Amino acid sequence: MKNFSTIAHPLKSQMNFISVNGKSTPVSFRHALFSGIANDGGLYVPENIPSFSPSFLSQLENLSLHEISVEVASLFIDEIPKAHLENIISKAFNFPIPLVHLEEKIFLLELFHGPTLAFKDVGARFMAETLSFFLQQEKKEITVIVATSGDTGSAVANGFYNVPNISVVVLYPSGKISPLQEKQITTLGNNIHAIEVEGTFDDCQKLVKQALADKELVTKRNLTTANSINLGRLIPQIMYYVWAFAQLRTIPKQVRNDNIIAVVPSGNFGNLTAGLYAKGMGLPIQKFIAATNSNDVVPEYFHTGKYSPRPSIQTYSNAMDVGNPSNLSRIQFLYGNDVQKMKTDIEAMSISDEETLNEIRETYKRTKYILDPHTAVGVCAFRKRSQKPEVRNQSIIVAATAHYAKFPEVVEKAIGEKIILPPILENALHKTKQSTFIPANYDELKALLLS
Ligand SMILES: *Cc1c(COP(=O)(O)O)cnc(C)c1O
Repeated sequence: MKNFSTIAHPLKSQMNFISVNGKSTPVSFRHALFSGIANDGGLYVPENIPSFSPSFLSQLENLSLHEISVEVASLFIDEIPKAHLENIISKAFNFPIPLVHLEEKIFLLELFHGPTLAFKDVGARFMAETLSFFLQQEKKEITVIVATSGDTGSAVANGFYNVPNISVVVLYPSGKISPLQEKQITTLGNNIHAIEVEGTFDDCQKLVKQALADKELVTKRNLTTANSINLGRLIPQIMYYVWAFAQLRTIPKQVRNDNIIAVVPSGNFGNLTAGLYAKGMGLPIQKFIAATNSNDVVPEYFHTGKYSPRPSIQTYSNAMDVGNPSNLSRIQFLYGNDVQKMKTDIEAMSISDEETLNEIRETYKRTKYILDPHTAVGVCAFRKRSQKPEVRNQSIIVAATAHYAKFPEVVEKAIGEKIILPPILENALHKTKQSTFIPANYDELKALLLS
């Protein structure tokens, strides 16, 4: 492991995290990890954004994803000794995150090579390993409960699969997630328990909230949750922006340019927040494009200065169907609530289903690369914008957030060909579903959890 001993942190004391609502005392990473949200209802953010040293940034192209990740993690987390952080990162990031050249100056950061084929594996696996580290020290066991509309459940289930001292309960709405997603959640077994709820996603979420508010249950089962606002899922997402930049540096100059635009397909805006932190730490990203589908509350907010959250509408890029993005409060905090300042770093654009389909089709025709609907929203946003002349001398890094095979219906409609499932999905389809069916009734859930 390389040691960046030349990095000077003269003012670095303990790294603390504060609530964006400002009414709660600073806490350690461990505290923020276990509690998820501050007791004033706000999301946790770092008290200060740490800086990369010039020596670290100048030798990035010689570093591995592992080395970069350890450095990022140790700048935020000072309660886990470095040797253990290395171990956590080895276990969490056991898949590659390649930067792939699509065409012209467009590169895709393929974040989907983890077990559930979406970028949420990165955060879920890191969070599971850090929780497990603290639990081993305390000789304690916990139960993690989550409600899912599809993708989060499979990432959390896989991320926490066979992690010691943690059992996971995933609630999903019966018949309302895709067959593939259901298999991904219900075929693991061991410490993963799938509960099929006769009801909607909202019913599942309500049951989870009731469970987390039930003191008896929380005490008896050491109940907590692994939702996406947890810092344990956000911090690891900073690492791959740095890794993308490191990979870009190794590409010949004729193909790439040092001015970088990062395009982030966005729903709850966690991925974008992590990218903004990477920039704040000194990573030279010139601009971010936040690409949403028709759920355009953030593009509208940037345009009008007025934020009007509303119920989400269903689109082809369903993991981004969010009408009130939870991480926006972190972004507002970072920019002192000043929309004009946000706009100097971020452009927000909304892409329709029509444009998404068209992007998948046209990109496939030209390059044979198959974009998933979420990544297509990102690529399309860049293309719309790049009609402006000043962007010619830039490299574009699009966060490729999912593998296309997770969305066969949409992709087949776009390219007019049958999708072949990768082995990891094909295998899950042939395994036997194991789940417990319950009505949307809290007493039944509680009895099950205490049995
Ligand atoms: C969750 C998700 C997103 C949105 O990410 P946020 O961090 O919530 O903005 C984009 N694409 C895919 C495939 C996802 O699963």
